[in-house]
Amino acid sequence: MQDQERRIDDEARRIMVAFPEVFGKPPWRIEETNLAWGLSCGKGWYPLIESLSADLTTIVQQDDLSRFQARQVKQKLGKLRFYSKGGNDRTADRILQAEFEAASKCEHCGMHTAELKSLGGWLTTTCDDCAAILLKSRS
Ligand SMILES: [Zn+2]
Repeated sequence: MQDQERRIDDEARRIMVAFPEVFGKPPWRIEETNLAWGLSCGKGWYPLIESLSADLTTIVQQDDLSRFQARQVKQKLGKLRFYSKGGNDRTADRILQAEFEAASKCEHCGMHTAELKSLGGWLTTTCDDCAAILLKSRS
């Protein structure tokens, strides 16, 4: 993986731009924020992150959390991690809920019941179908 060459893909950018109360406004510079990496997880989780961002926007507005800011969204050891600052118990609870949902949702296709698997030492939350495809493509 050439992490240094990663860019924010179109779908991640669309989600990030749609929720400025959560992600701030572009540009996301690499020297300023890890959001410059975009959503560093499988696209299967993007709808879940979009739904989370919509709910966080509501909470930010209702609870007047003007300092709330997502810091990084990534897959870590096969699990969704959404790092933020300036939130409260409601934002923390909603983020936990999303991370919990992601644990049983395929990171790759987003459609099937999934679980954490190790594919040749690479941890990912995946359904059986995607795991078979991924193993094939990596061999
Ligand atoms: Zn899948």
